[in-house]
Amino acid sequence: MKTKSIFRSFFPIIGILLLISISFSQVKTSYDYNILIKGGKVYDGSLKSAFKADIAIKNDKIVKVAKSIKGTAEWVMRAKGLIVTPGFIDMHTHADRGMFYPENRACLNYLKQGVTTIVAGQCGSSGWQIFEKAEDQMKRWTEEGIGLNAALLVGHGSVRRLVMGMENREPTADELELMKTLIREAMEQGAHGLSTGLIYLPGRYAKTDEMIELVKVIVPYGGIYHSHIRGESDQLLDAVNEAIEIGEKTEVPVHISHFKAINYNNWGKIKDACQLIEAAQARGLKVTADQYPYRFSNLSPYISLIPRKTWIGIAADELLKTEDMESVFDFLRDSQLIALYNKVSPKSLISELHQKYLETLPRKELVSLVATEIINLRDLWGPSNPKERFLFLERLNDPIEAEKILSEVSEYVNNSVPPENIIIAICVEKELEGKSLKEVAEIKGKSVAGTAIELALMGTLAVPMKMSEEDIEYAMKKDWIVTGSDGAAPFYGIGLPHIRSYSTFLHKIKKYALERKTVSLAHVIRSQTSLAARIMNWDDRGWIKEGCIADIAIIDLKKLKTDTSISNPHCYSEGVEYLLVNGKVVIYNGKYTGELPGRVLKLKK
Ligand SMILES: [Zn+2]
Repeated sequence: MKTKSIFRSFFPIIGILLLISISFSQVKTSYDYNILIKGGKVYDGSLKSAFKADIAIKNDKIVKVAKSIKGTAEWVMRAKGLIVTPGFIDMHTHADRGMFYPENRACLNYLKQGVTTIVAGQCGSSGWQIFEKAEDQMKRWTEEGIGLNAALLVGHGSVRRLVMGMENREPTADELELMKTLIREAMEQGAHGLSTGLIYLPGRYAKTDEMIELVKVIVPYGGIYHSHIRGESDQLLDAVNEAIEIGEKTEVPVHISHFKAINYNNWGKIKDACQLIEAAQARGLKVTADQYPYRFSNLSPYISLIPRKTWIGIAADELLKTEDMESVFDFLRDSQLIALYNKVSPKSLISELHQKYLETLPRKELVSLVATEIINLRDLWGPSNPKERFLFLERLNDPIEAEKILSEVSEYVNNSVPPENIIIAICVEKELEGKSLKEVAEIKGKSVAGTAIELALMGTLAVPMKMSEEDIEYAMKKDWIVTGSDGAAPFYGIGLPHIRSYSTFLHKIKKYALERKTVSLAHVIRSQTSLAARIMNWDDRGWIKEGCIADIAIIDLKKLKTDTSISNPHCYSEGVEYLLVNGKVVIYNGKYTGELPGRVLKLKK
């Protein structure tokens, strides 16, 4: 009886609580907006100067931009003293590799820079090393969630490798047809165009005619041809001309990836390359490019100061070679090799296609694939390998050999750029990090070559600055060049990734707009928002405008910090206080919220 009365006396209270919770949820749904951004200085994506405005967001859209917006919102972001820009679009990234792993799917390194959309599948390489269909990749990302929006290109190199292996020849008529079919299939599945890596294998084996034939497939879809062109150093101008020719013969919009002139003897050629592009634009062709704001690229940016050839010298025959390593694996049967490969390689998880690919590989290639997947010979090279070190020091003690070594090292460190452009990155003498090889030679009172040998024997790694600051600034001023990091989604703390993965977008603002004033802040913002969206044919992104998708970055310019360096690359950028992806808050008060609201952007037919 007693329990009943307790129940009775409690019942009205439960009722009241229920009522309160109902009325609370009613209040919640009766907000005028989901998000209200108050009092920020808005750069809307255009070149016009910033204006003070409030921005209202409902679901995933910007519904109002006005001087003052009244009304209630679930989230109110006070942006007084901060700038508000469209979320940044990274026109060129290799993040799709890292995003295979769940812990990298948020792409925190990009979110922290204000990036809300990336274009992946670059440099001829889409899917995994072998091939994953665009459809499979899109499905995986949609089901598992990604931090930012991602658009995909289909990689010419991946397609060619799947059809022709690593053959250095022209495709047969059947092979060309099969490549076209695979590209068409990817376009049907929503890819935005074709990418090439014409300096890489097997892309390098493709002649211009092959590219023209394959590019024709993407034209009816409104696809774009993104090209890592055939040369960025001595062949830069020929390579730009080839890209333009492909555009001319197919009427495809051409977009040149990571536009630059590599090596000292080519510095300044960026002007000639720009002239070629602008002449093509004047003829009515669509030609654009992307650029990252750094003086070094990623083709092994970290080098030892003794070239491999000199390090080995006459000891070549005594050292471990690829063939030695392969001969070890050659003892295993095909099935054992495949089983071993599947055990160690993350690529085996990708698709059935990959398994089929392994099963049809000729014996020699299978052995080589498994051997290189398990042992990276490069990891065993250099001063930390006792045998190699012993043989090198023995040669260094021989006066004739020593002279040869010195002259070869001297040529090497003066080859692509002069020693004042070779920067010490990782060294046991910490105080030398960040100094040039020339400065270190002066400090030590030694010749440049002698210093290089001493540093190399300590295991020092250096980064040659192969591009010129003048070229970077010259290209940056062009109104047809967008920002593309060419970065990745690295595992935080592991390895030595290029710092562009961590800082491209805020570094460009900080160094080139705020410090050096090479270009205006509005120019930089346009280059990483509306211009990129226009090239990709996205009319609802890249702008702060009513009706656009709410991809928005709110940045405190006073707190901008990009501390990543070649000596300590793993360091997130700071300064993005709030970040919205499709109207969802991914960064709040500078911290990641754990949301994965990114979408796979498919090419609209
Ligand atoms: Zn590339």
